[in-house]
Parts: sequence; C-alpha cells; structure tokens
Amino acid sequence: MFQAQTIIEPFRVKVVEPLPLPTREERRAALAAASFNLFSVPADKVTIDLMTDSGTSAMSQEQWAAMMRGDESYAGARSFYRFREAVEDLTGMRHIIPVHQGRAAEKILFTVTGGPDRKVPANTHFDTTRANVEHTGAEAVDLVIEEGRRPETEHPFKGNIDTERLDEFLAAHPGRVPLVVLTVTNNSGGGQPVSLANIRAAREICHRHGVPLFLDCARFAENAWFIRAREEGQAGRSPAEIAREMFRLADGCWMSSKKDAFGNIGGFLAMNDDGLAAECRNLLILTEGFPTYGGLAGRDLEALAVGLREVLDEHYLEYRIRSTAYVWEHLDRAGVPLLRPAGGHAVYLDARAFLPQVPPEELPGQTVSVALYLEGGIRSVEIGTVMFGRTRPDGRQQPGMMDLVRLAIPRRVYTQSHMDYVIEAVRYVFERRDRYRGFRIDFEPPELRHFTCTFAPLGWDPLAE
Ligand SMILES: *Cc1c(COP(=O)(O)O)cnc(C)c1O
Repeated sequence: MFQAQTIIEPFRVKVVEPLPLPTREERRAALAAASFNLFSVPADKVTIDLMTDSGTSAMSQEQWAAMMRGDESYAGARSFYRFREAVEDLTGMRHIIPVHQGRAAEKILFTVTGGPDRKVPANTHFDTTRANVEHTGAEAVDLVIEEGRRPETEHPFKGNIDTERLDEFLAAHPGRVPLVVLTVTNNSGGGQPVSLANIRAAREICHRHGVPLFLDCARFAENAWFIRAREEGQAGRSPAEIAREMFRLADGCWMSSKKDAFGNIGGFLAMNDDGLAAECRNLLILTEGFPTYGGLAGRDLEALAVGLREVLDEHYLEYRIRSTAYVWEHLDRAGVPLLRPAGGHAVYLDARAFLPQVPPEELPGQTVSVALYLEGGIRSVEIGTVMFGRTRPDGRQQPGMMDLVRLAIPRRVYTQSHMDYVIEAVRYVFERRDRYRGFRIDFEPPELRHFTCTFAPLGWDPLAE
C-alpha cells in the first residue's frame, strides 16, 4: 500500500493574494525610512511576513460562508448563540464572554482580580498578559520549569510550570494570589507545550490552596497535538478529546482567537464562577460592548465558531506541526542555532549564538532580523533585548533573558516552497554571519518600546550590504 512520506497541505487554494516582491533597492529604502524598525515597514514591502501568526490566518470556505449568516442584532444575535455553543462544547465552562481580542479579556479579568499587593504566577506570562497584570499594580511572576529558560535544552514539555515552586509560592502568599495562569502553548517561551500531567498537577496544587486555575489558551489545539504526540498514554486520543480534558481541568480561560480559531480578530473569556463572571460582564459593557457581541460583529462570531472546530482536525494539526518542524529541521541541519525543540507556531533563532561577535547590549536579534529582511524580504520579530530589555540610567542596555528571532508561521497561508525560500535565506545570512555587527537604540518611547523605537547601526552599514 502506498504510504506517503510527504505530509501535504490538507487544502487547495481558491483565492490568491499576490506576493510583494520588492527589489533590494526598495528594501534598503524601506529599512532607511523605518530607521531599521521592521514594525514600521509597510507590508507591501515584505515578501514573506513571519512577524506573527496572530490574525494572519487564511479562513476556510466554511468560515467565509458562515460570515454570510452573521446576525448583526445588538442583543441576542443568532451568531452569539452559535459562538457560545462552540466555546461551551470545547471548554465546558458556564460563562462565555466574547471580546475583540485576547488583551481585552486580560484587561477585564485583571481589572477585576488584580491590584496592588496581588501576585499572579504563570508558567510564562505573554507580554500583553504581563502588561495588563502590572497595569493594576499587581506582580506577574514566571515559574516555568528550569529547562524552559534554556534555548539549547531538549524537553518534550518546556512550557510546564514548576509545580514545586508553584506550591511554595502559593503557601508563601496566602490570600494574595487571585488566580494561576498556564499559557498553552507557552508563547514567550518558544511555543512550547504544557503536558496534561502538568495541568493536572497545577490544578491539584491550586485547589489545595483555594486558588482558581486559568488557561491562556490562544494555541490550545497545537498544545493538544503535542500532548497526543509526546505524552505517555495519549497517542490513541483525538486532539478534541485532549483539548476538552485540558479545559475541564481549569476553572477559567481566555483566548486570543486570532491564533487557533483562524480568526482575523476576536477572543473570549470563559469561567465557571458566577460572581466573577458578573463582574467581568459589567466591565465588558463599559469597554467592549453588550455581552452577546463583546466588540465583535456577528459575522466575526460566526467565523470563530467554525474555526474553533476546524482547528482540531487531525489532518490540519499534523500538517501544521509538521510544517513548523520542517523549517526547524532544515535550519538545524545547516548548523543554525535554534531554540530546541521546534515550537508549534514558530521557529526561534538563537541570535546570541548566531552572532557571538555581537554582545546582547548591541542587540544581536535586531541584526539578524534586519539581515533577513534585507537579503530575503522576510519579516521576523526580535524577541530579546529590544522587546524585554531596558535602557539603564547610565544609557547602557540591560539585556533580556534571551535574544531570539521568531519566525512565526501564519496558519494555512504559505506553502512548502515559501518555506524552502525562507530556509535558503536564513542559511545565506548565517553563512555570512561574520560580517554583521550590532545596533543601538537612538529613540525609544516609555512603554512597549519595540513597536516604535528607532535604531542606528554600530560599526557596519546595513544599507551598503
Ligand atoms: C496573542 C496572545 C495574547 C494577546 O492576544 P491579542 O489578541 O493579541 O490581544 C495573549 N496571550 C497569548 C498567549 C497570546 O499568544
């Protein structure tokens, strides 16, 4: 019997979007106009856009068809009930609150539960989660396992929370912890999964201390796939079954549905606690909208309801995880230093190891991302000192924990030949790595500086490359 080794894209293309193919001269001009900040480069000057997998998915014919059924009634729209049924079926939670994207859920949840003297532990907080926790005066604490902090270490579930430290933390701060967060998969930690055993253990510890457990579940389906592929005793189960169990171990969750629901916008907050849900709905009405639309159009709710089911399709998930691993394996074979193992939604280059001649204070991740754009028109994102470091009073950079460059892969958007092109470009830049030097930041805003700061090269001229 024919057993194909190639895992094919489980879809064919019906609508095409032309790929921008700017010349090298145009890319140089775009970099100069953007002061080397790739967030300021217009998308039509980017050939392959791997800046994020958020809101960049290709929707299916079923999603587009569902959008035509969007009910735009202000209150009680049919679309809301279809959305609620899909989320309820997945999470089993009593209260389903739609929001316009993940951070809106975070803003509402932490406005209600945060505040000065409060502490919120997580495996690793995503940057918007951390910002929303800290905005209330609370402290965001990352308790990921030791392996999750080291790019070169192999571990099947690098997103796991350190259960021993969690137990000690909850014992040390009674009454101060409103909830514990597990980010699945762990976005800031490299898209690494959390095991079912770890979720179960975290639940047991949380409940012993009377603290609710929440999932930040933007990539719940990718996490479920990793559990099936890597966790003992899970191989025979469907991703849907595993996902349902993940959610039933938690007391609440929120989702940026711009990830694993194939939405171009959207999200939700869900929980079992009646009192907490009532407080969240009050805030929702203030900032997002009436509880049956939460800042979304009826047609958005329809697309998400379909997407939440589609994403658990085994053929899709196999292709998704395999295509990320494909890029990772080719780069690994070429000797490119990578965060190990491959994540679900992205491949992370280890820029410190990639450019040992550029110290962290001189922003090696920025250099790698600029070189990838200049050579291949590929847009990546620096996740390192620019994003998580800061300028000290003496003007020097306080480095971030790691200096990574993320190649995030939009869902169902690029084909294998696009990825082959990316692999070729990364290899080309890597082979020429000796010539590159660093950057300094010559302007930065007070908060979330990576979006708008500007750069000047140090000891090399990227525009002469
Ligand atoms: C994207 C993301 C968020 C924030 O969601 P937005 O839709 O971008 O507001 C929160 N948590 C995780 C894990 C994410 O990946």
